Amino acid sequence: MTGDYISIRNLHKHYGTFHALTGIDLDIARGEVVCVIGPSGSGKSTLIRCINRLEPFSKDSAIHVDGVPVLPGANLAKVRAEVGMVFQSFNLFPHLTVRENVMLAPRRVRRTSRGDAAVQADRLLARVGLQDHADKYPSGLSGGQQQRVAIARALAMEPQVLLFDEPTSALDPEMVGEVLDVMRDLARTGVTMIVVTHEMGFARQVADRVIFMDGGAVVESGKPEDIFNAPTEARTRNFLHAVLDH
Ligand code: ADP
Ligand code: MG
Repeated sequence: MTGDYISIRNLHKHYGTFHALTGIDLDIARGEVVCVIGPSGSGKSTLIRCINRLEPFSKDSAIHVDGVPVLPGANLAKVRAEVGMVFQSFNLFPHLTVRENVMLAPRRVRRTSRGDAAVQADRLLARVGLQDHADKYPSGLSGGQQQRVAIARALAMEPQVLLFDEPTSALDPEMVGEVLDVMRDLARTGVTMIVVTHEMGFARQVADRVIFMDGGAVVESGKPEDIFNAPTEARTRNFLHAVLDH
């Protein structure tokens, strides 16, 4: 981990009159794994969607990724190529095979040749444990397998940062582990990861830093052992009490 790789300054986001992010300052180092936790509606998705400007944000806010300002215009494609995203709903193309889903972005954005993209796709599918499923269609896979394809698809652009928005929330319980295992492996590779999650065990084990959000603000952040064992803010304690108690 060296230097600040993502810098977020005074991040405000309004949806109409609703103030969803109320001035967030956050620096993330290259290779850092940050888990974002907090109640529903606290602004977790909005925060990570601002990082690649899937959501526009206020003019007096600033986000830089690798020194590049995240603003509309020519640089945005560069930022987005560096920032991969994995959503709760996998959003695979149903009419394309698993391999073709993973090949799509390199083919369209990078103009990678079909042969090279197929070789890369098979390598990535092996990495997420799906080497035997490349010729299937998404409907032939379980939810956990589909989410692993979505991770392979995000990796195909060789991103420096991966944003995960509750990647296991839509899965049946027995499939959560296989997706978290893939994410745990990725965390060891040095890619920068920001993970919105309700999986407190994962956050505790894998995160370098845990951020607790409430009401559009970062209420508390720190090492997992400090946040989970000795939170200083009452709101963090109440949240953890509620989610860890059942
Ligand atoms: P979280 O991911 O922590 O559940 P979100 O970032 O999705 O929270 O949402 C934060 C707040 O912003 C919520 O109150 C939500 O209702 C509101 N919000 C999110 N997206 C929109 C939208 N497109 N239009 C209006 N309000 C929104
Ligand atoms: Mg959300």
